[in-house]
Amino acid sequence: MPQPVIFVIDDDAGVTVALSGDLDRRFGEDFRVIGETSAAAGLATLRKLAKAGEPVALLIVDHDLSPMPGTEFLAQGHAMHPLAKRVLLVERDYSARSPVIEAMTLGQADYHITKPWLLEQDLYRVISEFLAEWAKDHQAGFELFHVVGRADRATHELRELLTRFNVPFRFHTATSRPGRQLLSDRRLDTGRLPVMIRHDGHTIVTPTLAEVVESTGGSISSDVDHCDVAIVGAGPAGLTAAVYAASEGLLTVTLEEAVSGGQAGNSPMIRNYPGFPHGVSGGDLTRRACEQAWMFGAHLVFSQRAVGLECQGGERVVHLAGGRQVAAKAVVVATGIAWRRLGVPRLEALVGSGVFYGAAGAEAQAMEGRDVFVVGAGNSGGQTALHLARYAQRVTMLVRGESLARSMSDYLVQEIEATGNITVRLHTEISDGHGTDRLEALTLCDRRRGRLERVPATALFVLIGGEPRTQWLPDTVQRRYGYLLTGRDVARDGTGAPCWPPGRAPLPLETSIPGVFAVGDVRYRSIKRVASAVGDGATAVRLVHEYLAAERPDERPLAVRT
Ligand SMILES: Cc1cc2nc3c(=O)[nH]c(=O)nc-3n(C[C@H](O)[C@H](O)[C@H](O)COP(=O)(O)OP(=O)(O)OC[C@H]3O[C@@H](n4cnc5c(N)ncnc54)[C@H](O)[C@@H]3O)c2cc1C
Repeated sequence: MPQPVIFVIDDDAGVTVALSGDLDRRFGEDFRVIGETSAAAGLATLRKLAKAGEPVALLIVDHDLSPMPGTEFLAQGHAMHPLAKRVLLVERDYSARSPVIEAMTLGQADYHITKPWLLEQDLYRVISEFLAEWAKDHQAGFELFHVVGRADRATHELRELLTRFNVPFRFHTATSRPGRQLLSDRRLDTGRLPVMIRHDGHTIVTPTLAEVVESTGGSISSDVDHCDVAIVGAGPAGLTAAVYAASEGLLTVTLEEAVSGGQAGNSPMIRNYPGFPHGVSGGDLTRRACEQAWMFGAHLVFSQRAVGLECQGGERVVHLAGGRQVAAKAVVVATGIAWRRLGVPRLEALVGSGVFYGAAGAEAQAMEGRDVFVVGAGNSGGQTALHLARYAQRVTMLVRGESLARSMSDYLVQEIEATGNITVRLHTEISDGHGTDRLEALTLCDRRRGRLERVPATALFVLIGGEPRTQWLPDTVQRRYGYLLTGRDVARDGTGAPCWPPGRAPLPLETSIPGVFAVGDVRYRSIKRVASAVGDGATAVRLVHEYLAAERPDERPLAVRT
């Protein structure tokens, strides 16, 4: 394969030479660095590279290029090299007028670097990050597993799980040549799919969640049954609580019914999380938090669903689906929300076969050149539409209401309006779905005119909000609309809970059961953002300390770290 190219263009020859030179010194072994100083010559070079099939990894383009603006050059260059990451070179200017703000908001650039660039080491660090993102998307790496399956729910769930758990794998349909070969080598047929084959030959037919977790090195049972704090749920809120609790010396057990990450783990790009000016994939963010909690000594147990909670004297006992239990001095509930269902039976039957709940993770690339639909007018619906638009031919957003602006952040509305292959159909809902093995068409209803229309559809992504995951908790935990009441809301509601002690008001994130805290999306009045879930998780640990100090003044945490 020819060496991938890092392409730099600035009509100030001094900048081009200096930047190309810096990049060549550091990346010249693996990449060919090409510098240009005029737009016409630059486009001619990119055309030649495209014709020769030479891949371009980065397009680094000065914003003030003339006669064509840098964003226009990026658009033309990207049309020739759609896999390249687009980097805008701008003057350092921390004002809202900086061109990079518009370029990032409208999706005209993936990243930026400022001129003059700081120390070489800073430049190298950010360029390495951009290249890593490019490589992640487009270069085949080591595959831990081969998965052979078909377009059905079980295969979809397995692919989603492996993606969420960051397990490198390659998928083959059972009818493809490699798929058939992998099955026949192991004397398997297509009767029982999916099949997971590890690099060392270990093969699992129709794997369960626990088998997947175990075969990738995760832990599925807790070796600790008494702890200081049990955290239920390993999304951003639960993972943050685990990081803080373990780092502050509390013996911490985190119980997660699937794998870590929560909803955020499925989010392809979170742009509003502080510290990531170009956005961060939710999977990356939560994976790091999970590693961090583990590094501090938290016990992370996957594939363990909490099914009950009870007070036994001073202890709070979490009951697990398999019959085991974990007793803790305090419990943090971080179980988030589950997506609401569309309630169209024929579409429910096609879940995983063209109908997907939640964001497009593993599926997005498979939508190359297809017509896809997104239902949901919140931020998650908007982000999913934008992500799909990178691959699909056309993305149609179906919105029941009269505008996107009522429920979506302004920056996303702008980005959607500026994306040519996204269409928004207002006043529209889905009344039926069609297809036997796969989704083939949808019947849409125009709510104003009451008119039905059948449209061909390859895929439907549903993001219509969710139900809080609180059904497993006893009735004594007060809730509103299913969300857990905490702090002053508990007090205002009256204290119906039998084990609430008189003489003290609930702490801010404390539920109606003393010592049981609720954090993140599951909490009534929560903000439904990653950063606020993270904030809740960290705050709850401080409150757990307060609770323990007040209720158990003579006890030290089980695991005191110095
Ligand atoms: C597609 C998408 C895009 C988004 N984009 C953004 C964005 O750009 N910016 C932003 O700020 N926010 C975004 N959000 C919202 C954000 O992801 C959530 O607010 C955040 O994940 C909430 O974190 P949480 O930890 O409270 O809950 P969750 O992330 O829902 O995690 C809850 C965890 O609890 C586990 N669990 C549930 N029940 C049980 C049980 N009984 N036993 C054990 N475990 C259980 C679940 O499996 C899950 O892992 C997005 C959400 C989605 C879906």
